[in-house]
Amino acid sequence: MRAKLINGKEMAENIKISLKKQISEFAYPPQLAIVMVGNDDASAVYVRNKQKAAAQIGMVSHFHHLDEDIREEEVIKIIQQLNEDSEVNGIIVQLPLPKHLNTHNIINSISPFKDVDGFHPINTGMLQNNQQPYFVAATPLGIMKMLNGIYSDLSGKSVTIIGASMIVGRPLATLLLNQGCTVSITHSQTKNIKQYTGTADIVISACGVANLVKQDWIKAGAVLIDVGINRTKEGKLCGDIDFEDVKDKAFAITPVPGGVGPMTVAMLLLNTVNAYILQRG
Ligand code: NAD
Repeated sequence: MRAKLINGKEMAENIKISLKKQISEFAYPPQLAIVMVGNDDASAVYVRNKQKAAAQIGMVSHFHHLDEDIREEEVIKIIQQLNEDSEVNGIIVQLPLPKHLNTHNIINSISPFKDVDGFHPINTGMLQNNQQPYFVAATPLGIMKMLNGIYSDLSGKSVTIIGASMIVGRPLATLLLNQGCTVSITHSQTKNIKQYTGTADIVISACGVANLVKQDWIKAGAVLIDVGINRTKEGKLCGDIDFEDVKDKAFAITPVPGGVGPMTVAMLLLNTVNAYILQRG
């Protein structure tokens, strides 16, 4: 069996086309504020991709590039100004932040109504309570769109997630649970992860370990979602799932690149359009 490719790039392009059309009918373009502290190379690439994608659909983005050694109070002050600026619909803070800054204090200072990354505790708490949050984190939201495209009903599916971060594993587990899945969340301290992945209908890996998941980790016909963005020793971009090794055993798989990454950017844009609608009525 040759696994079906889940084409995140194409799905994301289609979503962007419909967002562009929606924006063209708005009185004003939605505005996204992107706050980045310091000079992390990977973060700079992600920010550029987000700005480029925003421009493609007619959304305005403002880049607030702050000094590496800025004090926490100053970052929070800038976020409060953005909260109060009625022209700004969405605010994101590019993570990770430099070590001297407390990520929670900074995220918590974003208005939950402008929190288009969906990391504010009001939004994560609503999700946890199976209440509709204002915003859901972009990567998990994009993965749910992909899975909902494959399955008409996810209830009863067994899912194993590798990685329990605030931005991927945890919100994703809740979204899946809210749709009736039975979810195992594994992480760096889990013993024998294979025991969990080997029986799962769906395996989602978000741990950042290159080519960790091999064909003997999965059951035949499993759906595989690869969130990881890694480089091999030779410098080649790869996911957490060994694509070549699993491709004849899985039912469907997301490629890296061209899978979860483009959907994450599209979901950020979708959240920002929804923020505009929420604020302007
Ligand atoms: P993180 O460092 O915050 O969390 C990693 C998680 O993986 C932790 O829960 C940790 O316990 C677990 N883990 C680490 N090593 C493990 C191992 N050997 N076995 C099992 N679990 C292990 O990372 P993150 O920010 O969630 O990102 C994870 C990966 O996903 C990275 O490669 C990142 O670049 C990628 N990512 C991609 C997108 C995208 O849009 N494609 C978005 C977010 C993150």
